[in-house]
Amino acid sequence: MSKVKIIVQFSGGKDSQACLIKACETYGADKVTAIFCDTGWEHELTYKHIHNIVNLLGVKLVILKNNKVDGMAGLCRRMNWFPDAKNRMCTVQLKVYPMIDWILAQDEHMIILQGIRAKESAERVKFDVECSYFKDYFDTSVKKRLYRKQDVRKWCNMHDASVLRPIFSWSAQQVIDYILSHGQRPNPLYERGASRVGCFPCIFARLNEIKIVARDEKYKQRVIDLENTINSKRDNGNEATFFCKGKIPARFCNQNSNGSPTFGEVSEYVLKDENQPTLWDETEPIMSCVSLYHGLCE
Ligand code: SF4
Repeated sequence: MSKVKIIVQFSGGKDSQACLIKACETYGADKVTAIFCDTGWEHELTYKHIHNIVNLLGVKLVILKNNKVDGMAGLCRRMNWFPDAKNRMCTVQLKVYPMIDWILAQDEHMIILQGIRAKESAERVKFDVECSYFKDYFDTSVKKRLYRKQDVRKWCNMHDASVLRPIFSWSAQQVIDYILSHGQRPNPLYERGASRVGCFPCIFARLNEIKIVARDEKYKQRVIDLENTINSKRDNGNEATFFCKGKIPARFCNQNSNGSPTFGEVSEYVLKDENQPTLWDETEPIMSCVSLYHGLCE
């Protein structure tokens, strides 16, 4: 066992796309495998884009799902609630666990490329350009519960999984220029105004991003239906909503028992004056899946 697998975590966003192109240039497309963790909650354009790009580049695509839950909607139904900043079960269950399960099933060393950029956030600037994928499993200061700890340690006795972040110092513009210079286009959702690509919507979507969902009846109704399904099974009077309390000013909410807005209310708020900038949005922190295993969500 001496082969090395070249893996790129491909979310369908621009950074992972640039990373995938770079991997093909560095190692050769025939050596590269793109990994997409499917939450079942992405926009159809993202699914199409992922297939287009891997076909264009001629790389293998592995689609990972958590077979124990039926995607994002199934997970929320099972929780009978929605994930939030304190409980990011969506990333953990739909992306982290399937990725670890898949790695542990491979009898090869791995180089895992991630399209993470320092300029994305104050959190990401602290990341290493290179590290071990399972470094936390060997760090005694890490106190959180680690998934399949014994299995990971056993796998690491025989294998290496290194993480490289080849576009770490790039700006967003460099990423776009790089994609265009290779005759490709980024995910069409950016042209519709999305600043990030991933779940549609993501639990961390900013108001300007929610606007794109709110304008699209099919995806808007998908969230409303999920809220309704979950609430039809709840009997403690505490209404479950996709976004948390404080997402929009309280005066625009019909104050359910926990004070959080329904997706319908958030949609109405973001679309209420299409021509005005959404000032409230500017105060919102940019949040994303900042977890142990970076790069699974854009
Ligand atoms: S993109 Fe957002 S909603 Fe989807 S798994 Fe990541 S944090 Fe959760």
